[in-house]
Amino acid sequence: MATFGYRDNLAPCNWGKLNESWKISDAGKKQSPIDISTSCAEQNASLSSLKYNWQSDADVRLVNNGHSPTWSVTPGKHTLLGGNLQEAYELVQFHIHFSNEQKHGCEHTIDGKSHHAEIHFVHYKKSYGSFGAAVKHGDGLAVVGAFLDVTSDGNEHKLLSSDIEKLTQIETDGSSQTVEIDLKEYQLPTEKYFTYSGSLTTPGCNECVIWIVLDQPVLISQRAYDSMGSMRSCEGGLLAQPGNFRPVQPIHGRTVFSSFDPKQIISFN
Ligand SMILES: [Zn+2]
Repeated sequence: MATFGYRDNLAPCNWGKLNESWKISDAGKKQSPIDISTSCAEQNASLSSLKYNWQSDADVRLVNNGHSPTWSVTPGKHTLLGGNLQEAYELVQFHIHFSNEQKHGCEHTIDGKSHHAEIHFVHYKKSYGSFGAAVKHGDGLAVVGAFLDVTSDGNEHKLLSSDIEKLTQIETDGSSQTVEIDLKEYQLPTEKYFTYSGSLTTPGCNECVIWIVLDQPVLISQRAYDSMGSMRSCEGGLLAQPGNFRPVQPIHGRTVFSSFDPKQIISFN
């Protein structure tokens, strides 16, 4: 099995050539991430609030898998409902994309605007039975993406920032720790988001994702951001150089829907 990465021969532009089963990353028409254009996004009044039925979890496996810091949660404990989801989706893991290029470590962009990092909460449709079965369906996964920006004003998300600071314990590729995460208290925004049909942003890039991209960035401390910067990559060197994000992909006529009037978007920075 070929591996993948973010530089040289393993860089995103080569993923489709690295493995026969990853060809969709070049040939697909519903690839992610994308640049979300607020002037093209369609407001859909039927998009309801997101309902994060997430709990406190004392048995989360925090892993440096060489591609990203990933928190694997206890199975059967956390679900997502609401939005345009017809039934419950179960949280499997969350992970972060970032780079030490402070202005751009995210994957999605809005009107071309970047953020420091982007966190992805990956859920699969419970009725498909397993994550492996779900990725074979266009609506198999629901991924909530939140932009992360660094603040020095003391108004950071305290819980998330302190959870990210634990990344200093898994600096080497392949290292892991068991950590307690109080997901119930994350309290991410529920009302304003964009949604569209897309793919995983890492190989095999399966086109199986209902993307839910939150409009409001979540603020994290400088210390949390610096903790990401110490993580080692499976390619050698730091994950943050050049960063573990895939560039934006062509939209190919897809519609991005918004739960709010996208023309009222607040501009950041
Ligand atoms: Zn991701």
